[in-house]
Amino acid sequence: MNQTMKAAMLHGAKDIRVETCPVPDLSPGMVRLRVRRAGICGSDSHYFEHGYCGPFVPTRPFILGHEFTADVVAVGAGVTAPAVGTRVTVNPPRACGVCEACKGGRSNLCRQTIMLGSASTTPPTDGAFAEFVSVRADQCHELPAGMDDGLGAMMEPLAVALHAVKRAGTVSGKRVLVVGGGPIGLLLGMTCRAFGAAPVAVSDIVAARRQTALELGADVALDPTAKDLPAQVKQLTGEGFDVIFEVSGARPALRQAFELVRSGGTIVQIGTVGTEDVPLPANQLMVREIQFVGSFRYGNVFDEAIRLVAAGRLNLQPLISRVFPLAETLPAMFLAADKAQTLKVQIQIGN
Ligand SMILES: [Zn+2]
Ligand SMILES: [Zn+2]
Repeated sequence: MNQTMKAAMLHGAKDIRVETCPVPDLSPGMVRLRVRRAGICGSDSHYFEHGYCGPFVPTRPFILGHEFTADVVAVGAGVTAPAVGTRVTVNPPRACGVCEACKGGRSNLCRQTIMLGSASTTPPTDGAFAEFVSVRADQCHELPAGMDDGLGAMMEPLAVALHAVKRAGTVSGKRVLVVGGGPIGLLLGMTCRAFGAAPVAVSDIVAARRQTALELGADVALDPTAKDLPAQVKQLTGEGFDVIFEVSGARPALRQAFELVRSGGTIVQIGTVGTEDVPLPANQLMVREIQFVGSFRYGNVFDEAIRLVAAGRLNLQPLISRVFPLAETLPAMFLAADKAQTLKVQIQIGN
């Protein structure tokens, strides 16, 4: 086959160039994928904005992208599945498979993980804003024929939401607040609703995002800066929410969650709250028996995410705002960074 490909290479802050580079190797146990559609994630936007993402500073130009739909075009030695020709989406972290976390079924906590399209390792690992990408065979999840490529590329953000819901325990019949109305927050609201939570509230400081949350099925949209917020929450829930998902990563939002959760309730932290420690009301946590739990990436929920969407339990199509060709990755990245205007921006690569 042709040993070069087109890829969108990140050279630095706001510097992405579509260029020709080598097709990634195919080592034993790996599969080569031809990418069809890839979504731009918040972390991709961080890299694009600053040239790095938190503590992850790339040591060479690299290719972003980790949420995508692709076809298997070649398999390395020892691979029995998936077969060439299978259309898949990918669980982007490649966990080691042998540590205690991996063997205990919590591979999202593996410390030896190699994350696709990320500078969390040195050198960075190239991702999916390219014609071809290589992943380990077990990272692939087959997509049903009826699910289009755009939705296939939404399975990764949906997996983030689904894992967070599982970390909360059950949400059926619970009063739920999602703090932050971006794609992950909206997916969380939709998932909680599908799982029987009532009411489901979404809060965001951006009015347009509150409006979108209502259109996508939230029962209530709250402005976290409203003076009468405590009164609104009291009217809605009585003593407070049973479960709060903190997706925004904003320090005041996390602090406020402790005021809005009922005694015995649960706060799930999904948003990244910078790199510095945040003071927390530990006495409230103690005397009100608040459960404060973390949720990181995904458990083994990809196949469940695919089934939920294939069965029509969740309609994710309205979350896809715009699709650009690979050649226009740069304008796509600029648009994705405009959080008031867009939800999910995707890049069309193959057909
Ligand atoms: Zn993502
Ligand atoms: Zn491991």
